Amino acid sequence: MTLGEALAAARQKIDRLDARLLLQYATGCSHADLLARPETPLIAPAYAQFAAWVERRAAGEPLAYLVGEAEFRGRVFQVSPAVLIPRPETEVLIELALDKLRGLAAPRVLDLGTGSGILAISLALECTAAKLVAVDVSPEALSVARTNAGHLAAPVDFRAGDWFAPVAGERFDLIVANPPYVAGGDPHLVLNGLPFEPQLALTDGADGLSCIRQIVAGAPAHLHAGGWLLFEHGYDQGEASRNLLTDGAFKATFTHRDLSGIDRVSGASL
Ligand code: GLN
Repeated sequence: MTLGEALAAARQKIDRLDARLLLQYATGCSHADLLARPETPLIAPAYAQFAAWVERRAAGEPLAYLVGEAEFRGRVFQVSPAVLIPRPETEVLIELALDKLRGLAAPRVLDLGTGSGILAISLALECTAAKLVAVDVSPEALSVARTNAGHLAAPVDFRAGDWFAPVAGERFDLIVANPPYVAGGDPHLVLNGLPFEPQLALTDGADGLSCIRQIVAGAPAHLHAGGWLLFEHGYDQGEASRNLLTDGAFKATFTHRDLSGIDRVSGASL
């Protein structure tokens, strides 16, 4: 079996790009190697790994979980089924957060439900003045986040616990969160690899807003005057999110769209 033959066989079963990436991961070859020398024989262990991955991918398992990593904002993050796979739309939250942090001397920033750590780590690396605290209720997720912070040399103070519990009595200049916001029973939960992702990170099992309600309710006690709360939400949750913020005595409430034009992040200041 050659590289070219293995690739052609895999393309019958899975997406072309996924097939190529899995072959690169299994063999250590670059894209250029595959193009220049498709006649190279595949050694047995690499072929066995590739064939097993192709079967699992064909059964719907996300590529990021097969290879154990995913890219976000140009950095590679380790992922496991204990954490959500980074989504490009979450970059909107980073951009808005960086905007709010601009000009602050040593802002304290809290990331609630950090998962793989992409928000806290990206903010720590892109706003070096900021002091990051990141919380997650899942010890398995925190261990992935700590590994990522170590690999990327990002100074983040990770704490285990439920939402604000690990930061009792502390105040921040900015709170960010990408909470579980998919409603229980949403048909999307059974599509596009979502069944392989941690349900704890995707859905509240209720109307999709219960975590957002908890975060909005708890944030005022943990923000300095003038501090910002920014969180990601679903395409149809912008208005409900703004109402929660306004009812919760926040001001300057807004919703921002992602690159697909979908309501994606809402926020407000205290
Ligand atoms: N955006 C994700 C999805 O729809 C959900 C992420 C989340 O719940 N925080 O797949």
